[in-house]
Amino acid sequence: MRDFLEALPRYPLVAGETPLDEMPRLRASLAEEFGACPHLFIKRDDLTGLAGGGNKTRKLEYLIGDALAQNADTVITTGALQSNHVRQTVAAAAKAGLKAHAVLFDTVPYQGKQYRSSGNYLLDQVLGATVHVHPADADALTVIKTLLAEIGDAGGTPYFIPVGGSNALGSAGYVRCFQELQSQLDRQALQPTRLVHATSSLGTQSGLLAGRALTGSSLRIDGINVYRSSYDTMADELLDLAQQTVELAGGAVRVSPDDVHLDHRHLGEGYGVPTEAMVAAVRRVAQTEGILLDPVYSGKAMGGLITNISNGEYGADETVVFLHTGGMPGLFAYEEEFSVS
Ligand SMILES: *Cc1c(COP(=O)(O)O)cnc(C)c1O
Repeated sequence: MRDFLEALPRYPLVAGETPLDEMPRLRASLAEEFGACPHLFIKRDDLTGLAGGGNKTRKLEYLIGDALAQNADTVITTGALQSNHVRQTVAAAAKAGLKAHAVLFDTVPYQGKQYRSSGNYLLDQVLGATVHVHPADADALTVIKTLLAEIGDAGGTPYFIPVGGSNALGSAGYVRCFQELQSQLDRQALQPTRLVHATSSLGTQSGLLAGRALTGSSLRIDGINVYRSSYDTMADELLDLAQQTVELAGGAVRVSPDDVHLDHRHLGEGYGVPTEAMVAAVRRVAQTEGILLDPVYSGKAMGGLITNISNGEYGADETVVFLHTGGMPGLFAYEEEFSVS
């Protein structure tokens, strides 16, 4: 398949192709409970291979590639206290020999005992980041501008990576993923109707939509919103970022608004706040397939997919691919949701 992105500098971080596997025991358990269930496959982007894995590693191949091309010596990024993106960025920086600053905002109202000490927050420290924690109401722009200026004044060359690594360059990682998935589907002679995944800062879905447009695929991409409580601008931003990504890849096709699918029904009380469907989905997938999802993204998205299956939204002979975007370290930050002792 043609490499649409050959002109962009890329720093390799992903350990080869991630597996595309069937989940027959999950399907059997859902069919038993709900009467019918589509064929279920899982694309294992939790196994991208860098310090706990996850979807940000694909974006970081292009973002770190760009940082190195610009001769940066320090990477700055930002997110919530339990950000998987920040953990993967700090790991990528370590591997590339760059310093890393993690600017974390305590924005999630969840009050679990381990939330402010364990999980990704602990791993950021193990991976050697300089960690800055700010309260939810701090002004993010001012905080980041100040830090960039301080690093510059001290003679450093900082490179800023936005929340979730979600600009067109980061999204390019998911154009590549779409091509990889398409070639696996061809080899396994599979024709799924839908690709379902958790969506938040929109880079993953933008890249997939761009990859879909560039390759002329008709696979429907369903992002399950786990992030925003106000949806008004989300679809517009997604379409805009997908189009920018097509253009970055040198393509001339248009992404159609009709191809933008955001499922807003499964967020619950908000980003990072557990739902019953999430907890049940994390347990069910762990106990039928031996696969660990996470409480904030992939578990909520799987909870949404299972709810939709229970509502009869897919035919039993359809094939659905779930994209596992990672996040397993987050389980340790939500200990009391899962502990049965
Ligand atoms: C960031 C993240 C997502 C969402 O990806 P976006 O590109 O930000 O929409 C999904 N799952 C996990 C585990 C993540 O860390």
